[in-house]
Amino acid sequence: MKSIFTYLLTLLCSVSVYAENDVEVIQVKDNIHVLISPAGGNVVVSTGEDGTFLIDDQLAGRTEIIRSAAKEISQQDIKFVLNTHYHFDHTGGNETLGEQGAVIVSHDKVRQRLSTKQFITYFGREMQPLNKVGLPTVTFSDDMTLYYNNDEIRLIHTPAAHTDGDSVAIFTKANVIVGGDLIFNGRYPFIDSEHGGTITGLITSIDALLAIADDQTVVIPGHGSVMDKQGLQKYGDVLKEVANNIDALKKSGKSLEQVIAEKPSSAFDAKYGNGLIPPEAFVTTIYETLAP
Ligand SMILES: [Zn+2]
Repeated sequence: MKSIFTYLLTLLCSVSVYAENDVEVIQVKDNIHVLISPAGGNVVVSTGEDGTFLIDDQLAGRTEIIRSAAKEISQQDIKFVLNTHYHFDHTGGNETLGEQGAVIVSHDKVRQRLSTKQFITYFGREMQPLNKVGLPTVTFSDDMTLYYNNDEIRLIHTPAAHTDGDSVAIFTKANVIVGGDLIFNGRYPFIDSEHGGTITGLITSIDALLAIADDQTVVIPGHGSVMDKQGLQKYGDVLKEVANNIDALKKSGKSLEQVIAEKPSSAFDAKYGNGLIPPEAFVTTIYETLAP
């Protein structure tokens, strides 16, 4: 009995070690990299003479992995962090990086949410308030611009999309768009409707990004691999088609149960429905957040 337990423990530990080191470093432009791993959201690393700027900082407990990956790209300290939204898989490194001197930037609502206890029902996940050192100290309501690492980086709030406090980052010189969790590449997105996310806001925001992008733009999602404008267009089309189908059914008076039974996302389920958000959950959120 004991030996089986020991074996299982060893197996668990080895799996966990493997997962912790499973960070893929992708260079998307000269001085912009993305760290992609199965655990947590994508982390964008901008490097240069001014210091390292991170967009999102993953899960708590993985900060050293993220920090050493960033250090391998550049020896400079992490000076700025943008939180694209409040979720734990994008803000988990805030306290450690704040203690190390990084200035954390976010939309106003992100600071508010990180200052108080949050509960995400879909994941059964409680988030405790962060210590002061992990809270954003620079916040904005609509947009702001960082002149940093020889680029003009526009941080823009996109209302009521994935949450109520999302920001995207546009590297105007490098021509890179960081979409945060507005974009899940190759799977249905989580829309945190409990905290202000809506399908309509999400679609409007994707359209706004498409209007900025051109054929050379690199698009970095919150989860999944790097995309181009065409990939973003396809993702936006999927959201629109499923939302239109559900809208028509809802307007004809059908209940949520009836709409789910009609499988309004069936054309895309095989490709997009195998992630964290299965088709039924995706349809439910759209139904509930579409205007009546
Ligand atoms: Zn998220």
